[in-house]
Amino acid sequence: MSAITEKIHCLIIGSGPAGYTAAIYAARAGLRPVLYSGLQPGGQLTITTDVENYPGYPEGIMGPQMMKDFEAQAKRMGTDLRWGMVSKVDFSQRPFKVEVDEESWIEADSVIIATGASAKWLGIESEQRLNGFGVSACAVCDGFFFKEKDVAIVGAGDTACEEALYLSKICNKVHMLIRRDEMRASKVMQDRVLKASNIEVHWNSETDEILGEKKVNGVRIKNNKNNTLSELPIDAFFVAIGHQPNSGIFKDYLELDDQGYVITQSGSTKTNVEGVFACGDVQDKIYRQAVTAAGSGCMAALDAERYLGALEEITEEVSSSNQ
Ligand code: NDP
Repeated sequence: MSAITEKIHCLIIGSGPAGYTAAIYAARAGLRPVLYSGLQPGGQLTITTDVENYPGYPEGIMGPQMMKDFEAQAKRMGTDLRWGMVSKVDFSQRPFKVEVDEESWIEADSVIIATGASAKWLGIESEQRLNGFGVSACAVCDGFFFKEKDVAIVGAGDTACEEALYLSKICNKVHMLIRRDEMRASKVMQDRVLKASNIEVHWNSETDEILGEKKVNGVRIKNNKNNTLSELPIDAFFVAIGHQPNSGIFKDYLELDDQGYVITQSGSTKTNVEGVFACGDVQDKIYRQAVTAAGSGCMAALDAERYLGALEEITEEVSSSNQ
């Protein structure tokens, strides 16, 4: 480990709605937060288009602009915003040690983790090319733009079922592409999907290619039992095959669930390490909305404030008893 270059009171890792909201609250509380933005400043919202379900924007707002607004607010409150990637952590002792950009080490009295999660993708060429032009990994964000249209969704977990049901209320028809002859989702979700009159389940079906030059106009699917190909005309293709929480660098210190989500205490953002807090999608596999991430970012800053307040009291008591 190279020499420690700096000591920070409140370190925030990640720059989506959770990280920026934590920064706004922490800065206003006088915690002098430093925020490292990570590889994708602004997080998942920077790859979406219109956001219409974030309260306070009656006309909707573009995801990247919304993140610029969050950033500007965090900055105005006094957050020290930095480009940089936290590459390693050592939470085994206090102050915590954090490596930035694989070169310098800093110390932090408290850490707020807001590193988010990344949607998993199928990995086919057309999916990348048409991303934002009918291909989306968020039905709740983008489904509305395909009102009364025919769409497809790939996946067979609870998320895919939930999103297929959401789409079924907006769209004309939902084709659900399932690669096996059964779903992974909970029984209750499966039943709801199978009962929905405008959801057609295609079993043993894999996505061969999403069709369309400039925007999605169909999908070619392959039946993996008999290897036949067929095409469905659709206007949008939703990918719901799971998310990967960005928690890898914390795994030696923090309790993670079997899918890698950071486990926080119920009703708070506290992790198993006192002084380390987690908010946003890195600890939320159920709601995953900008507004819930922002809400938990606020909670994390308030939790950190209380923790740092108690830490200062202890430090003052120790120094006065030593005098
Ligand atoms: P899951 O990992 O549970 O499911 C992913 C699904 O995607 C599986 O059906 C999988 O198929 C399919 N899949 C993966 N890769 C591919 C691929 N390349 N091609 C086609 N299909 C693919 O992820 P979820 O996001 O659905 O759920 C994550 C966790 O969050 C779960 O524990 C879930 O229960 C929970 N959750 C709970 C909710 C709630 O309680 N309201 C709501 C949403 C999620 P296969 O089955 O063949 O592996």
